Amino acid sequence: MRVIVDVDKCIGCGTCQEICPAVFHLDEEIGKAEVMDPEACEYAGCCEAAEENCPVEAITVEEE
Ligand code: SF4
Repeated sequence: MRVIVDVDKCIGCGTCQEICPAVFHLDEEIGKAEVMDPEACEYAGCCEAAEENCPVEAITVEEE
């Protein structure tokens, strides 16, 4: 699984971290989300939900 956060689009709302904390972490200093562990998508099963709920469509989840 490939998970990408477009930091130019990210507004730091924290939704992805709330939905999928195993994968996403909001860096509060820079106010952007980062991908901690894309492999966690496999068992956590929440990456697509984070992608769908990002208000600015900054998250891309791709099957490899
Ligand atoms: S949900 Fe989208 S805009 Fe909000 S922190 Fe995550 S990547 Fe950024």
